Amino acid sequence: MPPRARSAWFRTLGQLALILAIAAVTGLAIGQPWPVITFAALGVVAWHYWRLRSVLVRLTARQRLTPPLGEGIWNELDRLLHRSQSEMRGRKKRLIDMLRAYRAAAAALPDAIVVVERNSQRIQWFNEAAIGLLQLKYPRDIGGPIVQRLQPLQLSHWLASGRNAETLEVASPWNPAATLSLRLIPYSDDLWLLVARDVSRLLQLEQMRRDFVANVSHELRTPLTVVHGYLDMLDPAEHPDWAPMLAEMQRQSQRMTQLVEDLLTLSRLESQDSLPAEETVAMSPMLTTLRREAVALSQGRHEILMEDAAAVDLWGSNKELHSAFSNLVGNAIRYTPAGGTIRIRFRPEGKGAVLEVADSGYGIPAAHLPRITERFYRVSTSRSRESGGTGLGLSIVKHVLNLHQARLEISSEVGRGSTFSCHFGADRVRPREDLALSFEALP
Ligand code: ADP
Repeated sequence: MPPRARSAWFRTLGQLALILAIAAVTGLAIGQPWPVITFAALGVVAWHYWRLRSVLVRLTARQRLTPPLGEGIWNELDRLLHRSQSEMRGRKKRLIDMLRAYRAAAAALPDAIVVVERNSQRIQWFNEAAIGLLQLKYPRDIGGPIVQRLQPLQLSHWLASGRNAETLEVASPWNPAATLSLRLIPYSDDLWLLVARDVSRLLQLEQMRRDFVANVSHELRTPLTVVHGYLDMLDPAEHPDWAPMLAEMQRQSQRMTQLVEDLLTLSRLESQDSLPAEETVAMSPMLTTLRREAVALSQGRHEILMEDAAAVDLWGSNKELHSAFSNLVGNAIRYTPAGGTIRIRFRPEGKGAVLEVADSGYGIPAAHLPRITERFYRVSTSRSRESGGTGLGLSIVKHVLNLHQARLEISSEVGRGSTFSCHFGADRVRPREDLALSFEALP
């Protein structure tokens, strides 16, 4: 017991003893000691009950206690109750202030934030931005079903995927100039956070970047053609001293032309959400062409193998698929030293098909694989330049495959070689129309 409480306790005991002693003396004086002592004792008990009652009344009425001035056990109890009440109030105030600060911060965010109850999918809370971006109304929409309140966005399927819901990008039904990016974040067992952001400015900047690259590439095309043309006209035999310089200039201007062409291809692919025209892509002639290109590029330095085991055709764009596949074949040749093997294989996979280009070349360290399809990303800049690479080949491949809902898989081992495989789903596979013709076309 703390000293202050102990002294209050002893003081109360002392008071009791004093009262009983006075009662005993008075009782003895009038010759009736026991009735007087009993009366005094009952008085003390009644007084304690009265104090107990007053404490109960104050506690149940949730009254704010005033700090007591007197001494004694009841005043000490009052003092302790007052202290714990003040502490509790202080803690509560701090919590409320903190909650207010968080709410104010969430309310001030430029992104729309809606707290949704997971099971009932009802709105629990939303911030200012949700009023502007999602047209929610306060207090009408608090407690309302989110799917119904945001009905023009048709969110029921998206919300049903819950934790696995991917970021959704949709044109705003309320503002034709805005594009909304919606994210669903489950942050507790019962609550979800729906975050909506206006990404129209970002998309606009992205479009500006694409237009800039496309325009610059386009503008570079003409002067390059002129330079290239004049260089072609210069005969090294007529200027033997300049021969090495002319050869280098020709090589560099060719590289620049290829770079510009690749940039234009990439811009074109990026600006498309889907293929403008789709057709049956006859794979047998495609494989023959790839093999011919590989042989030409290799100039006898590699063994080129080909296997057509799928016996199906693809559905998509002949031109784009050829550009993707020939990029992979070109890379295989360029990154495989002389004497290596390149294997082009078209094989079935479930109801789909896979085009595989495997080489026995330098290989790619695992750390580079996640970024290898980024534009201008190279494992070794010098090797890529030497081999005439633009750094855009695999970006083109990735975009072409995306447009065909196909995926690129890369497996590689340093010093042993790499395999690039393009996986096409069943939707992209068509039965081969003229099997006899395709067998004839095989080398
Ligand atoms: P580049 O024009 O430089 O070849 P790509 O986008 O086609 O650009 O390829 C990116 C990088 O990936 C290359 O610079 C090279 O380092 C690596 N790479 C691509 N294909 C292969 C391969 N078959 N073997 C080894 N490395 C490869």
